[in-house]
Amino acid sequence: MKLSVSKIPEGGINLQFEKDGEWFRGLLPESGQCDFVLDRIDVVCTVRRTKDAVFMEGTASTTMDVPCCRCLEPTRMPVGCSFKYTFVPLPSHPQEDWELRADDLDFAYYEEDTIDLDSVIFEQIMLQIPIKPLCADSCRGLCPHCGINLNAASCRCETGTFDERLAVLKKFKI
Ligand SMILES: [Zn+2]
Ligand SMILES: [Zn+2]
Repeated sequence: MKLSVSKIPEGGINLQFEKDGEWFRGLLPESGQCDFVLDRIDVVCTVRRTKDAVFMEGTASTTMDVPCCRCLEPTRMPVGCSFKYTFVPLPSHPQEDWELRADDLDFAYYEEDTIDLDSVIFEQIMLQIPIKPLCADSCRGLCPHCGINLNAASCRCETGTFDERLAVLKKFKI
């Protein structure tokens, strides 16, 4: 969705729209490995304008399907964020504070009277994708020896390894 800055009414506008998971996937770099799938993304935001400065505030929320990074079980988790941006036109002659402001996460430039809301949403959702998604903080993961899911079952591997070591020691003594 693209916004025409000059068409934003003085009193501001409330926007509500949705993007689907396919749209999100299409924007991901092809080289980037991604094993998550997003549901529909719901966006609600308010846009206000003072001359050529645009203030945006809103929320984006969705649900993510992803394998737990410890036990590999498919896991569903909510992903959401609230965001706040101030947009100003890209200066034709960079000023002194240009770089300073560019470092500010809440601050952005727009060009040719257009703000691309889609890239705002994409950026915000990307920031919320966990690097190590877990089905639960207490997930016990898989046994490194037999691969059994330790959340659902237990195994005797640890004891087994211990016995093996003992056996080696015994042998050595003999
Ligand atoms: Zn898990
Ligand atoms: Zn095991």
